[in-house]
Amino acid sequence: MAGGGLQGTASMPPRRCSPPGSVTEAASMVLAGRETVAAAARITGADPVSVEALAWETAKKRVYERDCGSCLACLAAGTDVHHRVRRVRGSSADPVIAFGFANTTLLCRPCHLKAHDMANPEMAARGYRLESWQSPEAEPLVLFSHTSGTTIWLTPAGEFATVPPRVGTSA
Ligand SMILES: [Zn+2]
Repeated sequence: MAGGGLQGTASMPPRRCSPPGSVTEAASMVLAGRETVAAAARITGADPVSVEALAWETAKKRVYERDCGSCLACLAAGTDVHHRVRRVRGSSADPVIAFGFANTTLLCRPCHLKAHDMANPEMAARGYRLESWQSPEAEPLVLFSHTSGTTIWLTPAGEFATVPPRVGTSA
């Protein structure tokens, strides 16, 4: 798609057309954590806005299914997909943070608000709010429990692990 011309011309519609299948292909690269939205769009020739939208819709659906429709923090009906490490906006954002399973949880609205409330230490202590230097894969999450709470680790493959990942095994 070289020479497509990012600037376009005055008569062109503002939205670029994507070659058939390119948005799906680009979104799967992004969801696999291999490429940023910007890079995947460049590789496939797809419109980055469409790639971002499809990747996010798919990621949300996957998280909803993984978490069985429930808020992981309190078991109420889940409504919001939350980023543990706050995602950076923009098409060059780290795809593992923006769309990855380990960084996303289903929450209800009150728990989501609590997770972003910097004055509330509970959600940070339970692993729902992480600092940008923390690895979502390595940091445990404390699920809802009537007793002491169940500690799990979210894997990039979309599973709940009961033991921490081995650190330093991949480059
Ligand atoms: Zn909740």
